Amino acid sequence: MDFLENRMKRRQLSHAYLVVGENRKALADRLAAAWVCTGPEPPCGHCSGCRKAALGIHPDIIRADPEGEGLKADQVRALRADAYIRPNEAPNKVYVLEHGELLNPTGQNVLLKLIEEGPAYACFLFLSPNPELLLPTIRSRCETLRAEGEETAAASREGEQLTQWIVSGAAPLETLPFLLSLEKKDRQEIALLLEETTARLTALLPRRPDLLAVVDRLAPIRAACEFNISSGHLAGWIAAVL
Ligand SMILES: [Zn+2]
Repeated sequence: MDFLENRMKRRQLSHAYLVVGENRKALADRLAAAWVCTGPEPPCGHCSGCRKAALGIHPDIIRADPEGEGLKADQVRALRADAYIRPNEAPNKVYVLEHGELLNPTGQNVLLKLIEEGPAYACFLFLSPNPELLLPTIRSRCETLRAEGEETAAASREGEQLTQWIVSGAAPLETLPFLLSLEKKDRQEIALLLEETTARLTALLPRRPDLLAVVDRLAPIRAACEFNISSGHLAGWIAAVL
């Protein structure tokens, strides 16, 4: 996400984003603040734009569907008309659709046209837990940002590392610090890590059928995470698979 922070700071954001993942609301709030920020490095957190954004009272941040019921045709038309009225005080005007997938195809097409041909100050944030329900045209026109929760992000990073070790047949000394660190995790976190790793290994099976044996040996460890087994025991078990 560093690249995104840089683009916010340099005021080089795109005009439409699709924000998905567990933490999508927090990321969308940050983007909206960056668009209305008038400070030196958006979102600066101090200017009146940032403060109003944080309080949810900025007149140029428009929550288009606060009830999450999906916009009706006349609401979409009203939004389009509103987009042609210049921002009240910010450099941009931001439209947030918390449930982008609830827009019907007609509504999505109206917004698509607005993104493509509307005023340059109009910015759009489509949030969705199910981005695949959005029209492909909208998805292709928006940059997709994945805002994963901290736990999922950590499991994903560590799952990638663990997969690399398994695939390359890492030496025990190389993996020892990692295995020791597992003892500080709870069973839920270890379960998530094993799921990530198994998914990655399974994707590699067409090229590396030999990894199936490892997948099979990880499965009972994942299952054991449901029971009252200590993290240290689970870590030792994973060590035996490496
Ligand atoms: Zn600011």
